[in-house]
Amino acid sequence: MSRTRTAILAALALVAGASGTALAAAPSSSVGTAAVPCTVDYKVNQWDSGFTADVTVTNNGAAKSNWSLKWTYAGNQKVTSGWNAKISQSGANVTAANETYNGNLATGGSVNFGFQGTYSGSNAIPAAFTLDGVTCNVDNGGGNPGGGDPGGGDPGGGNPGGGNGSRVDNPYVGAKVYVNPEWSKNAAAEPGGSRVSNQPTGVWLDRIAAINGVNGGMGLRAHLDEALKQKGTGEEVIQVVVYDLPGRDCAALASNGELGPTEIDKYKTQFIDPIAAILGDAKYSSLRIVTTIEIDSLPNLVTNTGSRETATPQCDTMKANGNYIKGVGYALGKLGKIPNVYNYVDAGHHGWIGWDDNFGASADIFKQAATSEGASVNDVAGFITNTANYSALKENNFTINDSVNGTSVRQSKWVDWNQYVDEQSFAQAFRQKLVSVGFNSNIGMLIDTSRNGWGGSARPAGPGAKTNVDTYVDGGRYDRRIHMGNWCNQSGAGLGERPKAAPAAGIDAYVWMKPPGESDGSSTAISNDEGKGFDRMCDPTYGGNARNGNNASGALANAPVSGHWFSAQFQELMKNAYPPLS
Ligand code: BGC
Repeated sequence: MSRTRTAILAALALVAGASGTALAAAPSSSVGTAAVPCTVDYKVNQWDSGFTADVTVTNNGAAKSNWSLKWTYAGNQKVTSGWNAKISQSGANVTAANETYNGNLATGGSVNFGFQGTYSGSNAIPAAFTLDGVTCNVDNGGGNPGGGDPGGGDPGGGNPGGGNGSRVDNPYVGAKVYVNPEWSKNAAAEPGGSRVSNQPTGVWLDRIAAINGVNGGMGLRAHLDEALKQKGTGEEVIQVVVYDLPGRDCAALASNGELGPTEIDKYKTQFIDPIAAILGDAKYSSLRIVTTIEIDSLPNLVTNTGSRETATPQCDTMKANGNYIKGVGYALGKLGKIPNVYNYVDAGHHGWIGWDDNFGASADIFKQAATSEGASVNDVAGFITNTANYSALKENNFTINDSVNGTSVRQSKWVDWNQYVDEQSFAQAFRQKLVSVGFNSNIGMLIDTSRNGWGGSARPAGPGAKTNVDTYVDGGRYDRRIHMGNWCNQSGAGLGERPKAAPAAGIDAYVWMKPPGESDGSSTAISNDEGKGFDRMCDPTYGGNARNGNNASGALANAPVSGHWFSAQFQELMKNAYPPLS
């Protein structure tokens, strides 16, 4: 188990916080004052013998085109590997120098890097840091260098939304996460459901009417009011999924929505504007509002358009009219103006974006959306992967670098030339790619682990036989899907990691954004007034299409319309939970 530690840097007192509640922060009072040439925010997550560190350096001096940060450990800490900086160590002295892609450091700009290390005994935060020889975090103007805010504001200017100063780097650290009473009640009503019914899940705004509440259910204000109650005197995150783009779900039918492909103005004025008005209400300014922006939309523009075999006319239309890009840009710009909103853009999952053809192209299109319609990269706190999908978090029985009889696992039928075998390695690498195209270096990733547990009796206990790459991969993989392109109500799936803050480098949290037990789509045609279609990927008798290599759908039978409670699925998820439920 990792635990988070609280400390304040440099001349400040070391403040030990309750386990899991805080972070190491530079003195926020000193930021932006010319007298402090640079600040360093050094956060540690540690377990008995190892740790990860997440470091944000803010430069208040002249702009730089390369940089190097140095510190000295008091203990026996050893850096073993790093990311977003070239890290070297000699004895207790460590130097972190820029990579080729992050050497530029503007005045007021910040850069983020991280590393993993080992230690024994104590793992004290370094007492001092120098940036190109100049000591950071110390107010040379003679003022009080202290007065740091231990659990509070992000000290760095790299804070997304820069300037308003009230966002923290990772909203999940030190905060509880909102338990949706409506989902919780459904879960608790299931036999055995009380084992998970107190877990936080996403609140989906999946149509205009959801803002005020559908069929007498809770609207957005009711959820925010309830979140204030759950908050008490601590910090509280509430997770809101913004999901109503024009021409929604262009490569599938199960989650088609109410707005036609051209209804961008309605999206702006009747969906995003009212949501922004509510989230911006001062009454809710003490909440940390995490938004998930428009599942699947931008990845669909990359992979399901043009000359690709997987293209659909609907996705071609949305690419041509630009309304996904405009909608996402507008949502980011509007919601990003609210100082306590943290926007996370949906970034598909490794079994979608993990191929070379899709990886860079997706990062580019995200950048395009995040810089359209008045939005900027400062409106993006991070990205979320695997939303409502089933990709395993970590495949421990094989790696992308393995080969069998000289053949790479990339050539196995399952991996099929993907560069990643699991979700976490993809999310971490994609984070770096996003930073390299211009997103802020302190963006964080969320991974939806609501349904990627793959436990139960079918979970392999060890690697597959090394007869060939297919026996090796298929025998060892946790993800038991028939094909990685299968996405609807997957048979054999289980609840994944429970929601958790800062579980790994670059990952802000594991979250349950898709509420387990809510259907992905109906397994037969069911008429409804939500705009939802019938997608045969939810029909267990279907033989598939180009997007799943023409394989069987692997879906559970008797499923209701997407979003509706599906008891049999919830039972299946509990049965196959990994980690198992106790
Ligand atoms: C549906 C939404 C629903 C969400 C959460 C999506 O697949 O289209 O209507 O709110 O899942 O269950």
